[in-house]
Amino acid sequence: MDLYEHQARELFEEHGIVVPRAEVTDSPKEAREIARRFGGRVVVKAQVKTGGRGKAGGVRLAADPASAELTARQILGMDIKGHTVGKVMLAQPVDIESEFYVSYVLDRAAGRFLAIASAEGGMEIEEVAASRPEAVARIHIDPFEGVTSAKANEIAEAAGLPAQTADVLVRLWEVLVREDAVLVEVNPLVRTVQGQILALDGKVTLDDNARFRQARWGAEGVEHDDPLEAAAAAKGLNYVKLDGEVGIIGNGAGLVMSTLDVVAGCGARPANFLDIGGGASAQIMADGLAVILSDPAVRSVFVNVFGGITACDAVAEGIVQALDSVQLTKPLVVRLDGNNAARGRAILDERAHPLLQQATTMDGAAGRAAQLATSG
Ligand code: GDP
Ligand code: MN
Repeated sequence: MDLYEHQARELFEEHGIVVPRAEVTDSPKEAREIARRFGGRVVVKAQVKTGGRGKAGGVRLAADPASAELTARQILGMDIKGHTVGKVMLAQPVDIESEFYVSYVLDRAAGRFLAIASAEGGMEIEEVAASRPEAVARIHIDPFEGVTSAKANEIAEAAGLPAQTADVLVRLWEVLVREDAVLVEVNPLVRTVQGQILALDGKVTLDDNARFRQARWGAEGVEHDDPLEAAAAAKGLNYVKLDGEVGIIGNGAGLVMSTLDVVAGCGARPANFLDIGGGASAQIMADGLAVILSDPAVRSVFVNVFGGITACDAVAEGIVQALDSVQLTKPLVVRLDGNNAARGRAILDERAHPLLQQATTMDGAAGRAAQLATSG
């Protein structure tokens, strides 16, 4: 889960990293008040979980409280790369002398963390990384050793950062470890004209597997950016929205993953991942179908179930009951195999729903669903 900038800022502050004074609001009137308290000038910053806000006009300097209000009014509700701005952060401006880039990211392939740092931070960092990779230092971190002050000095030196930044590098590592993050990024980390080192922007991605021990983000954790994912999470479904047109329901994460591959192999794109697990009850089936059918991109639905402990006849009963509560609006292809498959298929045959068809193999069913989704 990504945190908002103001949440990352809060974590940085708790770990002793210097950040600008700032407050968050969803009200332009309050933005004026905050600016007044801050002495007039403020930076108004859109709070969205995406980068490149500056370039999109989501980070703007306001010279006085009245223009802070006006600027907040303009930024609130703005769309930045598909994210609607619901809140702005008002920050006390600083006089920047130089902008640096620093981050720690989990490098799964290497089994290490990776420090990425550059003396040329700021909004053009992607450009710098692409055109002059030598300007970006990349140093692996042993997770058991972490970033000691010696390691911090090594990173700062390799990137050409002032020695002063080593302290921030150590503290930033503490943020990553203590807060269970898989990514922490500061861009820009700045040196001010007065010689102070400050984190001006922050991005933190928490490890979802550690959510249970990071209770403070609990309410935030179930906040999904995608409305379908939010609806599915509210029903306790293990659902991930994808970009395609074939809706997919399966039992078991492994089976669902391979179903996505097989559908893709048939020339269509999966619209989602949805694992209904072992308990394929009528309620779960109805909830799953309801979520998938409400995705306007879906053109066909593929239910792929391998009966194990949950027998296929129970799954078929679940589908039949679900069809009583959810109105099927798109063709449904069902493949039942494994425990009690024949009985399950007979139950669906008996239901004889005009939009429901069965296939006996996974490949056959995937091909049919793909064809239904892609044909005119
Ligand atoms: P991003 O575009 O989403 O990464 O947003 P940032 O928070 O990084 O802001 C973009 C740019 O705005 C920074 O790289 C700075 O150049 C500039 N900026 C942000 N805050 C301040 C500030 O307090 N003073 C000055 N002078 N510039 C700022
Ligand atoms: Mn930034």
